[in-house]
Amino acid sequence: MKHDRALRTAADLVEAGLLPAERQAEAQAVAKRYAIAVTPDVAGLIDRDDPNDPIARQFIPDFAELSVTPEERADPIGDQTHSPLEGIVHRYPDRVLLKAVHVCPVYCRFCFRREMVGPEGLGTLSPEAMDAAIGYIAGHPEIWEVILTGGDPLVLSARRLGEMMARLRDIPHVKIVRFHTRVPVVEPERVDEKLIAALKASGKTTYVALHANHPRELTAAARAAAGRLVDAGIVMLSQSVLLAGINDDVEVLAALFRGFVEARVKPYYLHHPDLAPGTAHFRVSIAEGQGLVAALRGRVSGLCQPTYVLDIPGGYGKAPIAAANVRDEDGVCIVSDWRGGEHVYPPVSG
Ligand code: SF4
Repeated sequence: MKHDRALRTAADLVEAGLLPAERQAEAQAVAKRYAIAVTPDVAGLIDRDDPNDPIARQFIPDFAELSVTPEERADPIGDQTHSPLEGIVHRYPDRVLLKAVHVCPVYCRFCFRREMVGPEGLGTLSPEAMDAAIGYIAGHPEIWEVILTGGDPLVLSARRLGEMMARLRDIPHVKIVRFHTRVPVVEPERVDEKLIAALKASGKTTYVALHANHPRELTAAARAAAGRLVDAGIVMLSQSVLLAGINDDVEVLAALFRGFVEARVKPYYLHHPDLAPGTAHFRVSIAEGQGLVAALRGRVSGLCQPTYVLDIPGGYGKAPIAAANVRDEDGVCIVSDWRGGEHVYPPVSG
């Protein structure tokens, strides 16, 4: 069933058959803290007969979100520690995040910025704050790449996006502009000619990193939206979060990453879930993640292998965390193959 507008309240979800009426009060309690939005495309993807549907788990609120564990934190990846001014996060020398907007077309229940996004979140940058953010980028010649994230920057109108790109176009040291978005999956019709044109600027290379976590999200409409972006000369990457009960299964991951590659989206990052408040029910252990990534290596083409990363809590940046395939044993280098066999390198001759 496809609705014609986004579902934004617990009552909407009950009415759409996505939440049993007896859970409405729970969902309302969650909604007081964390925003809800389910687009018509996402609602249409949910299997209402499956209580553990992996699409529903990503977007339908759960009472478990109100249980915060001691290690969880409001700003799990330390954005605020590296924010020199509103809208900018400058964690690594050659790139910045530009957070122009803090709303999203959907609200993911495991979101690492869940304390900042939503209609009640940090809002959209004011014209003055945007001027200051652009001024900061212009004033730092080491900034080679600007990453628009948020919130989801593709909720902005083509006109607003075009204005922003025009301002970045005038900063010669910025070469790459990257957008992080869920829009091609959750609202694929939004990716039209006007929006695509707005993402491009002469002298800049545009990348779009598409966030999806389950192969069922890569519908024909989503693949077509990605195709329109790629056909327009935009390079596409994927990012996914490893999530318990959603994609912590090697077959599901293999189908997801193959789906991306078939849609001309290069798998880029598989994120270990962050310590966002109320998300313990989504977390797997690093050992489980390493096991899945190793199993994937033996199963699918190198094209389908993202880098498995952890954002180190506190703002220390990303670290690749797949198990090493090489180790030193008393000065001898041992390399393991995809079946688990071990080999001395260089091989001992004779
Ligand atoms: S789209 Fe991204 S920023 Fe928005 S709720 Fe989902 S994970 Fe968070």
